[in-house]
Amino acid sequence: MASSFLDTPIEYLKGIGPQRAEVLKSELGVFLFRDLLTHYPFRYVDRTKFQSVSEISEEMPYVQLRGVIESLTTVGVKRGQRLVAIFRDGSGTIELVWFQGHKWMADKLKTQTEYIVFGKPTLFGRKFNLAHPEIELASSVDMNLKSAFQSVYHSTEKLKGKGFDSEGLRRLMRQLVSQINQNSIEENLSDEILSDFKLMPKWEAMKQIHFPDSNLLLQKAEYRLKFEELFFIQLKLLRLHHINVKTVPGAVFSKVGDCFNDFYNKHLPFQLTGAQKRVVKEIRTDMGSGHQMNRLLQGDVGSGKTLVAVLSMLLAIDNGFQSCIMAPTEILANQHYVTIAELLSPMGIKIALLTGSSTTKERKKLHAELESGELKILIGTHALIEDKVKFANLGLVVIDEQHRFGVAQRAKLRDKGKVPPHILIMTATPIPRTLAMTFYGDLDTSVIDEMPPGRKPIRTSHYMETQRLRVIGFMREQIELGRQIYVVYPLIKESEKLDFQNLQKGHDDLIKEFPQPKYQISIVHGKLTSEQKDFEMQRFVRGETQIMVATTVIEVGVNIPNASVMVIESAERFGLSQLHQLRGRVGRGAEQSYCILMTSYKLGADSRTRMETMVRTTDGFEISEVDLKLRGPGDIEGTQQSGVLDLKIADLVRDGQIIQLARTAAQTILNEDADLALEKNKILHKGLIQREKTRPDWAKVG
Ligand code: ADP
Ligand code: MG
Repeated sequence: MASSFLDTPIEYLKGIGPQRAEVLKSELGVFLFRDLLTHYPFRYVDRTKFQSVSEISEEMPYVQLRGVIESLTTVGVKRGQRLVAIFRDGSGTIELVWFQGHKWMADKLKTQTEYIVFGKPTLFGRKFNLAHPEIELASSVDMNLKSAFQSVYHSTEKLKGKGFDSEGLRRLMRQLVSQINQNSIEENLSDEILSDFKLMPKWEAMKQIHFPDSNLLLQKAEYRLKFEELFFIQLKLLRLHHINVKTVPGAVFSKVGDCFNDFYNKHLPFQLTGAQKRVVKEIRTDMGSGHQMNRLLQGDVGSGKTLVAVLSMLLAIDNGFQSCIMAPTEILANQHYVTIAELLSPMGIKIALLTGSSTTKERKKLHAELESGELKILIGTHALIEDKVKFANLGLVVIDEQHRFGVAQRAKLRDKGKVPPHILIMTATPIPRTLAMTFYGDLDTSVIDEMPPGRKPIRTSHYMETQRLRVIGFMREQIELGRQIYVVYPLIKESEKLDFQNLQKGHDDLIKEFPQPKYQISIVHGKLTSEQKDFEMQRFVRGETQIMVATTVIEVGVNIPNASVMVIESAERFGLSQLHQLRGRVGRGAEQSYCILMTSYKLGADSRTRMETMVRTTDGFEISEVDLKLRGPGDIEGTQQSGVLDLKIADLVRDGQIIQLARTAAQTILNEDADLALEKNKILHKGLIQREKTRPDWAKVG
């Protein structure tokens, strides 16, 4: 049986007894041949070239030398005992050192004999040495067997203890790979894909990735394996999407009725932007299709997503359905409630707010009105999906700013309606395209890529601590003009105490620069009670204070159009997406707005890039691309689930192009053959099932 080779337990390899098998399992999760084969090298070293002793430098990860051992001495006592060999080539001498197994080595090695040694140079005092190098008699080495691309494997202390350093793993791999041929490793991509994308067969790729015959073959093997990995992810996501679209029934919003038309024609406070119109149309088409909508709406801070949500909800009402909006915090839920209640006030539509602070009495009333269908729009926090909340006929759920709203939570919402409600997920955190394809690959996406007219782009500048006086002067000018200013400090759990002192000191310094009673300063941070916070906040909202000193608590939900300056202290300590979100708090009114990034004088390369990016652009997508490059996908907001992907070889940052190709390939195939039933695609169906068996369950990931 072809597949049985890969499913063979590693105990079947020569030299793998119970103990060594155990450590491979616990340290690397390697149980079967297939697991070992996907423990890919993390780099390759050139074993065909020699260096000379005199040219060794610290930057060299490995060196290969050819020369003779001049002397062998055992030095030290007890545990410090070691064997030291003086090794000479034409250019000089270097010490080779063995701690473990030194007696054995002392017997084996001969002086005045030519050897080839290979190892990692380490600086010891002012001289380099090689500890535990690989060493072979020059006369017995066939240089033709030495590869220019010798694989290097990740190992751990425990593995090394059982003889599995990189070298040991390579020997094991050699044994396994020697058994690979066309028959032992079955192809899992179709002929069509192999030829369309000029991919190397799987068995050959598996051989070449571990023991490459040339750089070109290595590149091809890498490409093939990355493509395969990303292709099956896309195939799975797109099938999931297809199943949703084709088989999950949805509330049919077939008509545009009075509510929508009335509001659109008489009460719309402004003209929709082109992007808003386009997105509303996309949503309308989805909701009219008879199948459940699963749509991600991306749009930068201030691009006008709320209005799109409102129009969608009016469509629901026109078709006899209720809707709800779920926000991540109470502040934001409140703000949505106020905004939407005001927008819809001339329409006589019943809406309500439900959060953790709602009283039992309020809840009772609300539950009753929901069940009778009288209440049309419910706005709230997570409390909304509590089991007690029952809707008469929920047709649309809008989820605002919740990146972690995964497959499982969406599944929970399905049970809230008689038919699964349509789902619209809104986010202002732009996700790079290729990441969105992977993390939200089963959703349709809409993008609002146009700001409402009349917005002046925020001007951003970067100042060093030494230029603070200038910044104070600028703040004074702006206050004279009647504007308000945010001054934001980082507050991070690990350094909370110190951060808090900085915030207090910053506040005190500002009071000296902006003395009462002419100036008033608000301060808001996590140590205040909600009443205190609210009080300070309200003073700023009413314009009674000119400056608001705060931690990032103001990040979400605050909308104060008159605040037009954002000063970010210790800006180098914030991530790019956070800086972008903070900057989005200004620029909401008619006035020119400013963002000032204050940093210390010394900046690391990454911090410098972050500051330069912020100064250069206000485009959230561009910023997210830079963020991705700096931090890698694991840390990008909205992609905390990256662990579940468990990628063995592909890299979401570097392989964006392959992701795009793989997605297009998967889409093309599904367009023609959604069930993968055609003869030529059966192999893909099989591959998908095989992967399911060895992959984590996405549905369990929230
Ligand atoms: P976000 O996408 O960040 O949720 P909002 O929906 O809160 O943005 O909109 C930001 C601001 O822009 C609000 O004050 C809103 O009233 C205003 N706005 C939205 N759409 C338009 C438009 N088409 N023309 C002018 N202003 C608009
Ligand atoms: Mg919003």
